[in-house]
Amino acid sequence: MHRPRRLIVFTDLDGSLLDYHTYSMEAAGPALHRLDELGCPLVIVSSKTRAEVDALTGLPAKPLVFITENGSGVYVHQDMSVEQSSPPEIAGEYSVLRLGSAYADILRCLDEAQKTCRVVIHGFSSMSTSEVSTLTGLDLNAAERAKAREFSEPFLFKGTADGFRLLTQALERSGMRCLKGDRFWHAIGSRCDKGVAVRKAFAIFRENYPGTIWKSIALGDSPSDVPMLEAADTAVIIQRHDGTSIDYRAKASQTVIRSQDAGPVGWNKVILELTEEREGHG
Ligand SMILES: [Mg+2]
Repeated sequence: MHRPRRLIVFTDLDGSLLDYHTYSMEAAGPALHRLDELGCPLVIVSSKTRAEVDALTGLPAKPLVFITENGSGVYVHQDMSVEQSSPPEIAGEYSVLRLGSAYADILRCLDEAQKTCRVVIHGFSSMSTSEVSTLTGLDLNAAERAKAREFSEPFLFKGTADGFRLLTQALERSGMRCLKGDRFWHAIGSRCDKGVAVRKAFAIFRENYPGTIWKSIALGDSPSDVPMLEAADTAVIIQRHDGTSIDYRAKASQTVIRSQDAGPVGWNKVILELTEEREGHG
């Protein structure tokens, strides 16, 4: 029996599919359309919130599955079947699988940890929309969406290295941890990361398309992308806007590709090459 072979693509947004400065995915347009034509699902795996992913422009189709806040939330479109919690949680056309901690719990733990460690952080919850806009380069509407957190708190830390170590230890004792993002630290539940969420999303695709043989590709540019890169057959390290790229050691039997261009320009070239290769193999 012929079993269809398909690529499934998991991608980071900021600095990978989206340009670090302009937040545009325009340069990746040809590759995005190629994936859409071939029926290859694109799963967004971002530190961004649901409100930000909902507002993305430039995608050829609505995503069947997307992952928010560094692996904390997995959103599955109602066209896909998924085992639900009871009662199921629905957001618009999507079912919500919560892998991360609730935002209120994160803020409470951060507050307690700051007091215990006598350090001060500056998190999104205490910033005005215009301050988030200034720090990120997002316009005010986009900054408002970035502040609509459900599972994690981005923050700046200005204290000493010792102070930061105490803070992370205190957070770890309360079931949280700190992830380094492109512009901020992120306080997040300790049980979730992009790798856990990608494995969950991949399992949902395999259950929904039992006859398909999948080959997975993951693309990212940051240390927080490493667990996601490790979960894929092909890991694509996207060059960062300053010309550097992260250290990455291939998992066994994994192919690793390093993009020769930064952000969506590199993303576009690598995906076009990978889809052409597959065409070549029939
Ligand atoms: Mg990134």
